[in-house]
Amino acid sequence: MSTSKYIILGGGMVAGYAAKELAGRGMGSGELVIISADDHLPYERPPLSKGFLSGKDTEAGISINSSEWYREHGIDVRLQTLIEDVDLNKRRLRASSGESFDFETLLVATGARARKLDCPGSDLPNVFYLRSIDDSRKIRARAADSKQAVVIGGGFIGMEVASVLVQKKIETTLIIREDRVWSRVFTPAMSEFFERYYSSRGVRLLKKEGIASLQGRSRMDVLLSGGRKISCDMVVAGVGAAPVTSLFAKTGLAVENGIVVNEYLETRETGVFAAGDVANYPDQIFNKRRRVEHWDNAVSQGQHWANIVRGERQPFLHVPYFFSDVFDLSYELWGDAEGATQTVARGDLSSSSFSIWWLKEDRLVSAFVMNRPDEERQAAPEWIKSKQTISPKRLADQNRTLKEAAQA
Ligand code: NAP
Repeated sequence: MSTSKYIILGGGMVAGYAAKELAGRGMGSGELVIISADDHLPYERPPLSKGFLSGKDTEAGISINSSEWYREHGIDVRLQTLIEDVDLNKRRLRASSGESFDFETLLVATGARARKLDCPGSDLPNVFYLRSIDDSRKIRARAADSKQAVVIGGGFIGMEVASVLVQKKIETTLIIREDRVWSRVFTPAMSEFFERYYSSRGVRLLKKEGIASLQGRSRMDVLLSGGRKISCDMVVAGVGAAPVTSLFAKTGLAVENGIVVNEYLETRETGVFAAGDVANYPDQIFNKRRRVEHWDNAVSQGQHWANIVRGERQPFLHVPYFFSDVFDLSYELWGDAEGATQTVARGDLSSSSFSIWWLKEDRLVSAFVMNRPDEERQAAPEWIKSKQTISPKRLADQNRTLKEAAQA
């Protein structure tokens, strides 16, 4: 049995970008094995609820690296390989086929799994959850035969999928349990903007509604806890994701809301790292632990790990970042608004060009930017990272440049 220098467990975006970075940093042929339960090479996930779902992007177009690329770099990608046992003492992974994989260094990048609804009917054939390319393909196929759809959940998937389905001329109802969309992140004024926008584009929004049950195999009924019934041809639920950690429960690693790592993305076991959706890491900017489920986190932690194992042992210092595209709107969000003491708006909240800046005392902690001058996109992460002091009054003054706002 051979021992690999590097094994990445999980064939998602972390693996795709870490492999690219390792190859760029002179990794030798035959040094990396990627083990994936998936039957596709690592691909980009953001298009699954946007361009791939709408039919604009192809499978080849969303691949991170081609199969030739892995071959040329001597990277062994083991698809459809399910690891059943991890022995960290022996530094060995055992697959359901009985095959074993020994490693010197392991990167756990097992990601997260879509949560399911916990009501009767949650597994009916036309109830969909979205995580993989196959999930997206199934939703697309069903959408082609659907006239009415119900989307459950007011997070990223709910908002993005509702926007794609209604643009396919499907009568779409978005059901959320909160009293306004994205209440976890948006201010009330931002929620109001998006609710108005969705309504103007034909999405019917039902707020403060729970799901009592789902019924029917072809034509379906969604029964709401308030007693209403909505009929539709398909249901898509985006009700969150949970980190995939069960393999590590008895390995001695700390598992708590993901796999606990230090600022070098390393677990308490030397040479065993975790990155992406599954990693619970200490955020050095906000001084708190967090687990981030987003493309940017997977990419930057994958790349960061590759740099660490190639000799650049630096702490992971990164401003959390998210982006989303819905209808013709693209927005970006940086930082963490928890504990913010005030917000400042720039632009016009009745138009689709505005930015929101969350301050904690007089320091910027988070920013949302949509269709705004580039200087705002650039300043947001820089200022959060540098804990920049800002004058809220000057920031709110549209006649002043951002630079002036930063001169406290
Ligand atoms: P999410 O963004 O965490 O949102 C989940 C939503 O579902 C929340 O509004 C939540 O409400 C609601 N919810 C939870 N349980 C529910 C229930 N039983 N009934 C009704 N509503 C319920 O998760 P997601 O939209 O499902 O996305 C899954 C993962 O993919 C996330 O990690 C997300 O970050 C990632 N993703 C990201 C992007 C992007 O960054 N653009 C795009 C697609 C997917 P509460 O807030 O009340 O819990």
